[in-house]
Amino acid sequence: MAVKMPNKNGKNKISQFMRLGLFWAIVVLIGLAVYASTAQHANLKEVALSDVVSRANKGDIKLIQVQGNDLTVTVKDQDKPTEKSIKENSSIYEQGLKKDAPVEVKVVPQSRTGEVMWNVAITFVPVILIIGFFVFMMRQSQGQNNQAMGFGKSKARLYGEDKKKVNFDDIAGNDNAKQDLQEVVDFLKNPKKYRELGAKIPRGVLLVGHPGTGKTMLARAVAGEAGVPFFSISGSEFVEMFVGVGASRVRDLFTKAKKNAPCIIFIDEIDAVGRKRGSGMGGGHDEREQTLNQILVEMDGFDGDTNVIVLAATNRADVLDPALLRPGRFDRRVNIMLPERKDREAILKVHFKNKPTDDTVNLDALAAKTAGSSGADLANIANESAIIAARRNKKKITNEELTEAFERVAIGPERKAKVMSDKEKELTAYHEAGHAIVGHVLPDSDPVHKVTIIPRGGTGGVTWFLPPEDKSYTNVYEFKDILARAMGGRVAEQILYGDDGITTGAGSDLRNATQIARDMVIEQGMGKALRDQVFHEDNGGLMFDKMTRERPYSDETAKQIDQEVAALINEAKARAMTVLKANRSHLDKLAAALLKDETLEEEAVVDILKGTKLPKEAKLHA
Ligand code: ADP
Repeated sequence: MAVKMPNKNGKNKISQFMRLGLFWAIVVLIGLAVYASTAQHANLKEVALSDVVSRANKGDIKLIQVQGNDLTVTVKDQDKPTEKSIKENSSIYEQGLKKDAPVEVKVVPQSRTGEVMWNVAITFVPVILIIGFFVFMMRQSQGQNNQAMGFGKSKARLYGEDKKKVNFDDIAGNDNAKQDLQEVVDFLKNPKKYRELGAKIPRGVLLVGHPGTGKTMLARAVAGEAGVPFFSISGSEFVEMFVGVGASRVRDLFTKAKKNAPCIIFIDEIDAVGRKRGSGMGGGHDEREQTLNQILVEMDGFDGDTNVIVLAATNRADVLDPALLRPGRFDRRVNIMLPERKDREAILKVHFKNKPTDDTVNLDALAAKTAGSSGADLANIANESAIIAARRNKKKITNEELTEAFERVAIGPERKAKVMSDKEKELTAYHEAGHAIVGHVLPDSDPVHKVTIIPRGGTGGVTWFLPPEDKSYTNVYEFKDILARAMGGRVAEQILYGDDGITTGAGSDLRNATQIARDMVIEQGMGKALRDQVFHEDNGGLMFDKMTRERPYSDETAKQIDQEVAALINEAKARAMTVLKANRSHLDKLAAALLKDETLEEEAVVDILKGTKLPKEAKLHA
């Protein structure tokens, strides 16, 4: 992609000035040449042809030069022409000049412009060629920027003065990250202050956080706050089919950046090139590794005065090569968290700033419902709600559009068009009612937010639980209630249709439940016998690496892990069964209500489930 150079930079100004100067010098030289070859005829005295002929016959004229109908006359005692005349369209002899007159008549080629151009060419082309050669050499030496092959060039985009600037104020929340990055802004603005105290300016800052949490925005805001250019490239753009291209792109990018210093280089998805080395299939020298090496070389090559700071973003800091994180490279790290409730509200406010909403819209309530959403998700909800409102020809966004947009972003759009048979509908209603009742009855589960049997995204229906407030930690009781309510759907099918009447409708529930149970045992030390030990395997390497890596625990332990996971699932299933059997009448009631209304909100569900009981056997604690 073409990169537009900012003209703010001093060096660029000089070379622009030089190029302009050269252009005008060439124009002036050509003008002079034209003038020189026409001027010689300009101040000759004009005389009548008859006069010329008679004086020539008498012997007073030495030379007559004939060019078309123009004559120039050199009189006897002169070396240069002093007079000019014009003849008619016939030979000068036919106009009365005697054949034996003592005068030399010389015919010169007719086209004067041709002659002038020829003169110019002979005189100035070599000069222009020499100047051109020097200009070329100068540009070459300004940087090895002009590589012959375009694909070796970095595709870095430059956001200079023309593109809308982003500032810290445009980013809601993220206060800690902003505070950390404020220092980087200060380095860029006042490098002298730090150097005078002998401090080394940081070279690289790693921004670590989930996708959509605003890492790119923050990097742009650093550039915006410091008023410096911003080069952005994605790690995956370095890696191409041809070996060596990535490395040459890195070189090109850093050369460009150094020319524009002070500036920011932003490398998105650095993990695409920066994974631990030595894990590639094709030996130690694959393309990715060369690219990574080149990044390291360039960063080490910054001298003390280079005011270029490299910001890199990733959501997998754990897989990065340790060499990238060494001092002098990406030795600073800024963690960017998923936004908390008040930050979510602030982000929503930013994105609803230019969208007309009516009084029913409550952004605080939406913020409460969206735990776990990233800034990008919230921006997406805002945009979706505006699109839905526009489609309904509304002038303002109402709560209805907001809710629909939220659900669409969270679980995918409703698929009302999908036709379900009555039997399937009944099955879905019981399945969802099973989830809802188990979740409602068990004490450590989040409350039910909504139940629907309208297909959404890839599912037949949805039961939705929302935490009343943001949570940072989950205890074993809570995990076990999550597992039990996840099993509630399958158990309801079993109660209704018998052991072999169960369907594929529970497939994704079972996958989720198994994953949670495995995480509890392997990652969180929450197994019964395997309490307080973790059996984490680093999944950062490439496929080959995973195949050859030995498990960090014995076969015996592997077996035990499997048993623990199975025990958790069985316990969850048994608890769900106890709860649903004890509340069988409520199961029928809720399923019937779902068949009638298709979607039930929290209040309606709570109303229907009044009087449900928590059986003693399902209790985990007092
Ligand atoms: P990342 O680089 O972390 O994947 P981006 O910086 O590309 O995320 O963010 C994607 C979009 O999400 C932004 O364009 C912006 O609209 C929105 N966004 C994310 N975080 C915030 C925030 N804190 N304030 C306002 N908007 C945000």
